[in-house]
Amino acid sequence: MDTILVVNAGSSSVKFQIFAIEGEGRLRRQIKGQMDGIGSRPRLRAVDANGDPLAERAYQIESVSDIPAAMAVAGAWLRDELRINPMAVGHRVVHGGPDYERPVLIDYGVVSRLERYVALAPLHQPHNLAPIRSLLANFPSLPQVACFDTAFHRTHGTVADYYAIPYQLHAEGVRRYGFHGLSYEYIARTLPQIAPDVAKGRVIVAHLGSGASMCALKGGRSVESTMGFTALDGLPMGTRPGQIDPGVVLYLISEKGMSASNVQDFLYRSCGLKGLSGVSNDMRQLEASNDPHAILAIEYFVYRICLNAGMLAAALQGLDAFVFTAGIGENSAGIRSRIVEQLAWLGIAFDPVANASHARLISRSDSRIPVYVVPTDEELMIAQHTLSVLLNSPSSSPNRERVS
Ligand code: AMP
Repeated sequence: MDTILVVNAGSSSVKFQIFAIEGEGRLRRQIKGQMDGIGSRPRLRAVDANGDPLAERAYQIESVSDIPAAMAVAGAWLRDELRINPMAVGHRVVHGGPDYERPVLIDYGVVSRLERYVALAPLHQPHNLAPIRSLLANFPSLPQVACFDTAFHRTHGTVADYYAIPYQLHAEGVRRYGFHGLSYEYIARTLPQIAPDVAKGRVIVAHLGSGASMCALKGGRSVESTMGFTALDGLPMGTRPGQIDPGVVLYLISEKGMSASNVQDFLYRSCGLKGLSGVSNDMRQLEASNDPHAILAIEYFVYRICLNAGMLAAALQGLDAFVFTAGIGENSAGIRSRIVEQLAWLGIAFDPVANASHARLISRSDSRIPVYVVPTDEELMIAQHTLSVLLNSPSSSPNRERVS
């Protein structure tokens, strides 16, 4: 059976999934795996579609010292032990810059274009490109597709993508991109099946995970997002502050003597729920804690989500539905109830019983604004994009080479 490999590469881990292509282009998830501890304590872990373990093994640091080596180990395991030879690979790539509005079939020209965006996403883009380069070198005719976190937001109106800085910087790429686009696109495609009447209207989607953002959808297209030039902006996150006065950064530099790389590290790793609480970046631990700073961090998280909901409702000129997704949005009934209660003024009548049981609809039937919980699936979105790029690019399907 033909399969698609989905790859999501980070700094020290490569997550991968295998999807089988069934009749009429339907995709069925077969395997979820990851190589983590790359360069420290490499481990391969994988489960099948039921969550039953397929592999759990450790490797010597020398044998899996970087992402290409991790790809080679995972590829050999898929090919030699499971007899899986994917017909194409779909990659999550954080930044598609101002130009890429949709996924793209990768060649060396695309790679060199995407390398230009490394400066825009220095902590993610190089890791996303590493497996692409190694597969291009080792399997030049294996189709690879880049799926971008920014692409879904390219439907924003011009004014939404500007900062009030000299306009030449906008042309240089200093603009609001928005992220988590694969998640929002999945929700936008799924919502018509769940709530066809509101899916055509004005919807706020709150993607609340270790990274968090919100998106305003009008007719299934993104018109505004809380994230901007980088994935630091907008809502507070596990370890990132969200919206912050740039004057704070100046203060860190002038008064604390921090270098640019110190500030970068600080903003990406030491702020957000972790920094404010001093307890943890994990919402489960914060919810279980009595520490006053953990309580403050939760209150701040909820408050900023509700403030941003007001902003996005203004961008949409009204609201027809609100959707929760991602780790916290899908699993924390406590956070959802705090948010929804603070958004009552928008016309939401909350259903605490439905919320506690993680029902799909957590507002009452008489609520003017329905509130849904919709699990996201970025990997399925990537697999779907990869298949459709493949079907629409005649040059990519015949005589294809398979990955190992
Ligand atoms: P994600 O990045 O979407 O995988 O979300 C990860 C985050 O979801 C974790 O850091 C947790 O804070 C949060 N999370 C997962 N499960 C729960 C839960 N049952 N209750 C509260 N937070 C959760």
